[in-house]
Amino acid sequence: MTKAKRLRALPSVDIVLRDEKVLALRDIHTLAQITLWVRAAVQECREHILQHSEAFDAPLTDWIIDRVLGQSKADHGQRLQTVINATGVVLHTNLGRSPMSDQAIAAAVRASCYTNVELNLESGRRSKRGERLMTLLAQLTGAEDALVVNNCAAATVLVLQAIAAGREVIVSRGQLVEIGGGFRLPDVFRAAGVTLREVGTTNRTYLRDYEDAVNESTGAVIRVHRSNFHLSGFVTEPTIDELVQMERPESVAVIDDLGSGSMIDLSPYGLQEPNVLDSIQSGVDLSLFSGDKLFGGPQSGILVGKKQWIETLRRSPIMRAMRVDKLTLAALEATTEIHLAGNALTELPTLRMITTSAEVVRKRCESLLKQIQHQAAVEIAACESQVGGGSIPGSILPSYGLRITGYPPHHVAHQMRNGECAIQTRVTDESVMVDLRTVADHEVTDLAKGINAALENTQPSANTEIAPE
Ligand SMILES: *Cc1c(COP(=O)(O)O)cnc(C)c1O
Repeated sequence: MTKAKRLRALPSVDIVLRDEKVLALRDIHTLAQITLWVRAAVQECREHILQHSEAFDAPLTDWIIDRVLGQSKADHGQRLQTVINATGVVLHTNLGRSPMSDQAIAAAVRASCYTNVELNLESGRRSKRGERLMTLLAQLTGAEDALVVNNCAAATVLVLQAIAAGREVIVSRGQLVEIGGGFRLPDVFRAAGVTLREVGTTNRTYLRDYEDAVNESTGAVIRVHRSNFHLSGFVTEPTIDELVQMERPESVAVIDDLGSGSMIDLSPYGLQEPNVLDSIQSGVDLSLFSGDKLFGGPQSGILVGKKQWIETLRRSPIMRAMRVDKLTLAALEATTEIHLAGNALTELPTLRMITTSAEVVRKRCESLLKQIQHQAAVEIAACESQVGGGSIPGSILPSYGLRITGYPPHHVAHQMRNGECAIQTRVTDESVMVDLRTVADHEVTDLAKGINAALENTQPSANTEIAPE
């Protein structure tokens, strides 16, 4: 066929839109969206014809329809939807970090209607946004006052900018971290208009290094938690208590960037993480931490500390650009109430998952295994979960999961991600690991269905004998 002939054989957009399979897409997409995909596919086809002499394998119309169906599928997968987290990484950044408690979810749903976010119902007057939450956070942490912004990165920028713009902020060379996603401390300092004053060395920084660096242009001293890596060996740095006690002018604030915001001593579970209460008790001016790491709430950055400094932050013009919405306020209020009631370990999913014993996880595996059809392909196996989320470097939680072997693992994992319920697993070249530490009991049935469907839709690996059931 000549090029001209093949071009004439191109179907019109209308013809493709009338195809049965394309018509069926109308249930999930708008006509406008489908038309855009069809136009683009026809155009792509036209360009291919113009540029290449060889024809497509499939007839033109079929090729275009396949292309459109592929777009529909990809678009559908991009929609925000619930994912069953079978990775064993509790704070999984790609899966939205901390899942919220039932109470926080209900509070956020209630707040989606008209709410008294800036109205005092008793007096009928305008009230300060989030006033009750700030009181609860102060009560919980023992701080004088509190403030909430969109995330801990925003909290860092706000603090540096409002307290030390145009001045120097002292930080140890051992703490100049990149948190991830390109969030590097030196860049943040620059963006906030603050001069970075590095002291000490990568492995050893002494109190006197800080003391020697203080001068008339010092605005603050900041300690940054090394969330995602360990320093060990010939290492030293002053404690936060020592930094607070350090001789310095009153105008020099001591700031503690805690990162994960643990409210509870998790050392019985093998996790060493700085504690918010200890930080406040040391007398720091401000502590900052994420709301969606070990605090177990919605994405947010929480600042607690001395009233005078929180007031300075509250008055900063950039505060208005960082304030959280009413859904976050509501969810955080419910989360804070759970901490205050002393129920964090049982009612916050994140802490529940971290503190669940391996034995309980193994029992969950047994109830999952009973619902699996291709028994020969799965076995209960010991594995290691992680806390993740840039908190607690290298902290490993002994766990159990189902190991799927004898099927091409990447194909099985793909099927599980794109089945009726999206399921994210841990996949290697040999097997798919379904870690049940991060799966809730109520998700086990859907998880079993997903595994069954994925194995149903996958050919066993060629060189593996699957025993007949
Ligand atoms: C995670 C982390 C941040 C960033 O927190 P976000 O809430 O993700 O913005 C900042 N500092 C430290 C030490 C952290 O661990």
